[in-house]
Amino acid sequence: MNASGLSPEQVKLQARARELAAGPVAKRAAEVDRTEQYPWDNVELLKDARLIGMTIPQQYGGQGKGWLDAVLAIEALSSACAVTGRIAVETNMGAISAVMAYGSEEQKKLAADMVLSGDKPAICITEPEAGSDAGGMTTRADKKGNRYVINGRKHWITGGGVSRLHLIFAKVFDEQGNEEGIGGFLAIRDETKGLKITKREPTMGLRGIPEAVIDFEDMDVPPSSLVIPPRGLKKGFADLMNAYNSQRVGAATVALGIAQGAYQLALDWSEKRRQFGRPINEFQGLQWKLADMSIKLVAAQALVYNAARSGEGGFPDMLLAAQAKVFTSESAIQVVNEALQFFGARGYSRELPLERMARDVRMFTIGGGTAEVLRNVVAGALLNKKLPQTRDGWSKS
Ligand SMILES: Cc1cc2nc3c(=O)[nH]c(=O)nc-3n(C[C@H](O)[C@H](O)[C@H](O)COP(=O)(O)OP(=O)(O)OC[C@H]3O[C@@H](n4cnc5c(N)ncnc54)[C@H](O)[C@@H]3O)c2cc1C
Repeated sequence: MNASGLSPEQVKLQARARELAAGPVAKRAAEVDRTEQYPWDNVELLKDARLIGMTIPQQYGGQGKGWLDAVLAIEALSSACAVTGRIAVETNMGAISAVMAYGSEEQKKLAADMVLSGDKPAICITEPEAGSDAGGMTTRADKKGNRYVINGRKHWITGGGVSRLHLIFAKVFDEQGNEEGIGGFLAIRDETKGLKITKREPTMGLRGIPEAVIDFEDMDVPPSSLVIPPRGLKKGFADLMNAYNSQRVGAATVALGIAQGAYQLALDWSEKRRQFGRPINEFQGLQWKLADMSIKLVAAQALVYNAARSGEGGFPDMLLAAQAKVFTSESAIQVVNEALQFFGARGYSRELPLERMARDVRMFTIGGGTAEVLRNVVAGALLNKKLPQTRDGWSKS
């Protein structure tokens, strides 16, 4: 699946990531899934290969690479192990990119140092009663003297229990109880009293990375932990979500990588497996499946690369990121499902990676904005209209 338009450095970076993926990462993937243990050894491999914190500017110890560079690494890694691909997403995009764009000097140094030493930050937005309607969150940060006191519950937080740095979205209230907008607070697990990991979700796939419920009980933090985007708290949510467009491109890339991995397995198997005295790829029924799978993959890759390129010098464009994530996540599910079919009964066995890939890839139409809600984002951008989803037409965010 060669993409044109890559620089020689990008081709080298891609080769480095592919080598790692085909070697140690592929070897560990089934075990990571089976044991449900976070692959700290892979984190070390990513660190050594300089695939972590690549997008962090050089003055903070990173490499100042662009989104497409990160995408190339994530795509290659995810074809072998989606969990490792997600670690590469969250150490290059999402929370870390929000802090590097909007944080104070102190916040940037803290976050960069933690990520470069192998911490995958957690981004805490979703709540039990505020999923797609994230602006309806009830986690609150009340100003009390020279502190903020945070109370609330987040769930489905990727990395809960392994991540140390957390970026926690909360409604911010002044001392008089007036709501000022939504901000992101930085807190470090085990160093911040009141930040409690209270449950690990038993997930369908992506099992090597925990999804957790996190409770904030009178979590007391200084104002210096509040990340305030340049347009202030009133636009804080919109700006923080703009940074999140990088993570959406990253999520689409993981789905793409998984599907490419599954497609390659099916292609190879279709030559090896013989029925009726001939390789199964001599049957037109399967040839057309291969053709459709490859078309979806090429189209998805073009959308993902294009969305990544749109963000150079800033964040990926919201419309392009949403289009890429909807198409790629849905196509990837179809491609992996078809790839599994090529293997007949073997595809249904846990001895092959297809069933793991099918479980892993299913997530990507859900996490990071569902395919339905992202279609609303696409429609809103195309029509250039706010499309509030509440009955009274009032938009909270
Ligand atoms: C593996 C995984 C990892 C995740 N990681 C994180 C994380 O690290 N941090 C974090 O904050 N969150 C995370 N999430 C949460 C994720 O972002 C939410 O699950 C997602 O935003 C959807 O919210 P919900 O699950 O509450 O679904 P709901 O909002 O309850 O939606 C239910 C259904 O209704 C549909 N729907 C809702 N509103 C509309 C509408 N207006 N128009 C059309 N359809 C609509 C949805 O598309 C969906 O099909 C993760 C989720 C998963 C599965």
